[in-house]
Amino acid sequence: MTEAPVPILMYHEIGTDPNEATRELSVTPGDFAAQMALIGDLGLTPVTAADLAACWRGGRPLPARPVLITFDDGYEGVHRHALPVLAQHGFTATVFVSTGWIRGPHDTGDSPDTMLDWAQVSELAAAGVEIGGHSHTHPQLDQLDDAALRHELIHCREIVTDELGTAPASFAYPYGYSSRRVRQAVRETGYGQALAVGNSLARRRQGPYALRRVTVRRSTGVEEFERLVKGRGIARNFAGDRALTKGYALVRRARQVRRKAIRSRV
Ligand SMILES: [Zn+2]
Repeated sequence: MTEAPVPILMYHEIGTDPNEATRELSVTPGDFAAQMALIGDLGLTPVTAADLAACWRGGRPLPARPVLITFDDGYEGVHRHALPVLAQHGFTATVFVSTGWIRGPHDTGDSPDTMLDWAQVSELAAAGVEIGGHSHTHPQLDQLDDAALRHELIHCREIVTDELGTAPASFAYPYGYSSRRVRQAVRETGYGQALAVGNSLARRRQGPYALRRVTVRRSTGVEEFERLVKGRGIARNFAGDRALTKGYALVRRARQVRRKAIRSRV
């Protein structure tokens, strides 16, 4: 069983022209291709979140130098730009979808940018990409009461199950953090593991519901990327994450306030 720490990379959008709200956390297709080439050159082998957790529970072994490539929210660029690069290298990945943001029958009309539709999510799954849950409407889960929290987790799980025919096994916390109550609810909903964001590579002792990831941003150069996958230079990365996560939450809140103001005029 591999006990060594494992780098889990967190991406969001892969695109050339992202919206302002998602820009800092998006990566250009060219940078993404260069980063995947480097993973190949370094001899790392991508595995899914379910693979990693299963291994750390004592199940199947991992490759010698595992890495996780994860994408949050469900942006269309993951299908358009990332999937061909992943396929070219034979890499797997995990995509965590906010089901209310995916284009189609469950769409709340509230997504921050152009999102995947369910046919694209199905194509990703068919290509061997793990599809995990990321809540329904992407709230700060610790701010919800118990009923709303359960609804976010269960509704997301049911929609993914209905659309893909397979229940999602893994979850990623919106905004990258959780509370004990949130972690317990995620476990009780049936998710086997959940990913956070943190100042660390993932380690078995973090437990299956608090596996940490490092953020890849638009400003992440190839040298910084190499330090990230080798577990170096992460403190600086984390300082940036906290500011960005907070900034993104503020953008979301401002949009919600504006929408409420618009609705109240009608
Ligand atoms: Zn998210």
